[in-house]
Amino acid sequence: MKKWVLVFGSFFLNSLSGQAVAAERVKLNGYAEWRYDDVLIVEGQRVRVSERTLFLGKTRRGDLDSIPLGYEIKVDGYRNADGSIFARKLEAKPNGSAMFEGQVSSEFEAIERQWRRRGYVFEEGASGNSGRLGALVEDGPEVDRVRRMIGRLVPPSQQVGDFHAYVIQNAAWNAMAAPNGSVFVFSGLLDAMDDDELAIIVGHELVHATHEHSRRQYKRGLWTQLGLAAALAVAGSQDPSCDNYANPSRAGLQAGIETAAVIGALAFQNGYSRQHEDQADRVGLRYAYEAGYDVSKAPELWRRFAAKYGRQPDALNFFFGSHSTPSARSRHLEREIRLNYR
Ligand SMILES: [Zn+2]
Repeated sequence: MKKWVLVFGSFFLNSLSGQAVAAERVKLNGYAEWRYDDVLIVEGQRVRVSERTLFLGKTRRGDLDSIPLGYEIKVDGYRNADGSIFARKLEAKPNGSAMFEGQVSSEFEAIERQWRRRGYVFEEGASGNSGRLGALVEDGPEVDRVRRMIGRLVPPSQQVGDFHAYVIQNAAWNAMAAPNGSVFVFSGLLDAMDDDELAIIVGHELVHATHEHSRRQYKRGLWTQLGLAAALAVAGSQDPSCDNYANPSRAGLQAGIETAAVIGALAFQNGYSRQHEDQADRVGLRYAYEAGYDVSKAPELWRRFAAKYGRQPDALNFFFGSHSTPSARSRHLEREIRLNYR
């Protein structure tokens, strides 16, 4: 029987042979995406349970089969020698419609409508200047290639029909997925990548949508803005003669919500947090693997990006965002492959 004790945040596992092995503590926060025998895939990782697992939320004790795919899953556990995760605690709950999900999506819908109407994609700069990124292609062989790939990559808990493929005529190596499920791939990337490589990138982008990174970013932005609104309200209440502050809390709040919604809707352009980018790398690799693509090409793929664009690629926020440096990213992916896809 295996036993563990907690020592300074690390678990020491007494294996059957009685040898003590330091095990890496792992926390996961994702969705139930695939299920195989005694394993549930969460955040791209293989999660196992035992009679010692503490089940929280809507699960029957000891029963991974009772968790529907698509449920939100939190795991606190440690890494087994075979790379899978033993869940010490596992919490499962339905993936309901989260706060602000609709707002972020509709903010982006408005932007997409403008792109389609004009027939090209543009980006508003911080200075208000808009940079033209390239013609928006809605059909043809390149779009078909992306659409077919999305059909293979989308996990079973999601509806393939919720995702839409576009191509942007631009020589850069780039791609992005918007909060409403629209996926944009630059023609330069399509020319340079084989299907395995492209699947690793499109898989990464899809995770930003399936894991609602825009909404999460939006929420973060909103709290900042609400803090600002509260400060305005206080300032207003101290100066009742000022007309602009006639109804300070409501005006400030409204402005805050609008600003935060735009921040969220544009997060896919301006870059997600490193935490979200790393998650997209990890889970995107799983999407590509489950779809039958060769994920062993991932580390070399980032080295190619690094060779082409260097460490700080300018004007390429979509794909790089606040990523780890390309070399760190390659290392992470090599480890990910070693742990999960041997
Ligand atoms: Zn990304």
